[in-house]
Amino acid sequence: MFKKILIANRGEIACRVAATARRLGVKTVAVYSDADAHAKHVMSCDEAVHVGASAPKESYLQWQRIIDAARVTGAEAIHPGYGFLSENEDFAKACADAGLVFIGPPASAIQAMGLKAESKRLMEAAQVPLVPGYHGADQNPELLQREADRIGYPVLIKASAGGGGKGMRAVSKAEDFMAALESCKREAINSFGDDAVLVEKYVQRPRHIEIQVFGDTQGNCVYLFERDCSVQRRHQKVLEEAPAPGMPESLRQKMGEAAVAAARAVGYVGAGTVEFIVEQPGGYEQPEAMKFYFMEMNTRLQVEHPVTEAITGQDLVEWQLMVASGEPLPLAQDELVLDGHAIEARICAENPDKNFLPATGTLRVYRKPPAVSFDYGEVRIDDGVREGDAISPFYDSMIAKLIVHGATREEALARLDAALAEVRIVGLQTNVQFLRRVLATPSFSQARLDTALIERERESLFAQDPLGTGLTVAAAVAQTLLEERASETHDPFSRRDGWRSHGVASRRFDFKIAGQPLVAKLRYLDDGVLMLQVGEDEFQPLDLTPVDGRRIDLRFAGRRQVVQVFRQDEDMHVFGTDGASVITELDMLSHAGEGAGEGGRLTAPMPGKVVSFAVRAGDKVSKGQPLAVMEAMKMEHTIAAPVDGVVAELLYAPGDQVMDGAELLRLQPAEGA
Ligand code: ADP
Ligand code: ADP
Ligand code: MG
Repeated sequence: MFKKILIANRGEIACRVAATARRLGVKTVAVYSDADAHAKHVMSCDEAVHVGASAPKESYLQWQRIIDAARVTGAEAIHPGYGFLSENEDFAKACADAGLVFIGPPASAIQAMGLKAESKRLMEAAQVPLVPGYHGADQNPELLQREADRIGYPVLIKASAGGGGKGMRAVSKAEDFMAALESCKREAINSFGDDAVLVEKYVQRPRHIEIQVFGDTQGNCVYLFERDCSVQRRHQKVLEEAPAPGMPESLRQKMGEAAVAAARAVGYVGAGTVEFIVEQPGGYEQPEAMKFYFMEMNTRLQVEHPVTEAITGQDLVEWQLMVASGEPLPLAQDELVLDGHAIEARICAENPDKNFLPATGTLRVYRKPPAVSFDYGEVRIDDGVREGDAISPFYDSMIAKLIVHGATREEALARLDAALAEVRIVGLQTNVQFLRRVLATPSFSQARLDTALIERERESLFAQDPLGTGLTVAAAVAQTLLEERASETHDPFSRRDGWRSHGVASRRFDFKIAGQPLVAKLRYLDDGVLMLQVGEDEFQPLDLTPVDGRRIDLRFAGRRQVVQVFRQDEDMHVFGTDGASVITELDMLSHAGEGAGEGGRLTAPMPGKVVSFAVRAGDKVSKGQPLAVMEAMKMEHTIAAPVDGVVAELLYAPGDQVMDGAELLRLQPAEGA
């Protein structure tokens, strides 16, 4: 085993690797960028080396500096984590040239699986089933169109070098093919510097099922069963579980063996994942009819590896370190057993209601349910952030992974929902409530899984108000009263005279909830009972008792529950049993001029990079027309014209990094617009 390794990554995966290394007595070296000078991953390692500025290109992708850091600190091996340099064959080679062990597969295997089209040609030779399609080298557009016509619509055009859900276009009819091809190639060249594409049949209502494989230098190769990652948004995973619900044992074995064959075909060593797209010709009720096709192989540890750890009881990072130091795999295929059911939820900084727009900000409040980290547990939370840390625009928007394990899927599901209900995040938008709503859908709870699940269940997933206005207001009022009680010498409950009118003391609160102003009145009835009036509704009695910390035992509308309220500026974040909501306390004077001067501004909806402008100064544009494309974290966003007009000036150039709210271009609105 190694004595010291360098971890060429950041965030949760760097902390994850450090945890196993520590347990094994292996010393660790972190690398960090400017933005990460005080990051959790730096504190999780024994030593740390600064490798550059905040943008990944200037730090985490600077492989010469990373190799130098390993040499200077005496590390023997480099763990690349996922993302960044993990699938870069040149980096793997450079490590070897520098006498360092790359904790991953041989460079040749990374290369063989690096491009989707080439890897499909290899898989075809290894007799791994493929989606019907064209993955040839000839990129003549007419040829591609003919191939698409031959395959039959709908088809999917994929950037061969693509990843992270980017560079894919579904085409439903022949007439749309050329336009989709062009836009796919444009995104591919911008994002991956390579515009080669493949065309394949678009599988309807498929499941994404992937197999974890592991090889060693002695020629052993095993599969650690499957993960179902069908619940996706924008072709990116949201929930992952193992085993795949309803998976017939014979199919599990077939897919496992196909994955091992795929790995062997490229001389695979270390942890890898073979992703399959699975057709369900018999629908959800007939899993025996499922047909699987090779999609791609990810030649690294996957984000969702903890669900496999939970059901196998193995530490995959430990396996990686053992294999990289030349030891054989710790278990043979027939020694691996599958135990219970595990589900992972990716908690991300994003706004599900705005098409999952990534969010940035500071974790002003970050409280988690009791859980273990980077280790086996019924509830496990892996993260690389602490309360007070920022989610910056430079890196991935994932905040934490919540992983649960149970004897059955039902048990795991219940545990996951209960744990999510206890997550408290204030300071930036997250998908926590969205995740809970996904878990509650009939499709997910009954395991009717396919990649269109989120789309299909749209109606119940977005812009919901789980707590209801009444409870949100009651919690906000309760919090205000308790804060006053804590800060005043007089008990405000006894200080009623100031508000007394018509025999009852009353007090007015001005709130804004979901953009709408709302007046609430609290009345102190003569017998000491509190009555809350919210709009037209009256609630009586309102009973509140502080429990501990911020928790309030609220008896309201015939129900008793513990709520928690956190203030951030004028917003009050209310967390209850059924979810969370935000309410704003209005100071009437300071909001007098609100809403003015908003029209016609073209500002960045988030910090990020300007990818391209679709217009030039002087162009006439109509309302809704795309003007510019921005990129932040792993997504592209189109900025559209809010009104008809003429482009007066472009204020940035493609490639520029811009701040949240920066004006990107100036538009002269047309007369009357
Ligand atoms: P999967 O592992 O299931 O394929 P992703 O494609 O989302 O899931 O995971 C890989 C991606 O994770 C990379 O492309 C990168 O954008 C992102 N990433 C890289 N490093 C980190 C990190 N330290 N923390 C969070 N995300 C990261
Ligand atoms: P990436 O490298 O971005 O992860 P993949 O090839 O793994 O790209 O595909 C990502 C997702 O796109 C899959 O998980 C699946 O949801 C969808 N997808 C890919 N290929 C197909 C297909 N042929 N038919 C339908 N959906 C597909
Ligand atoms: Mg993939």
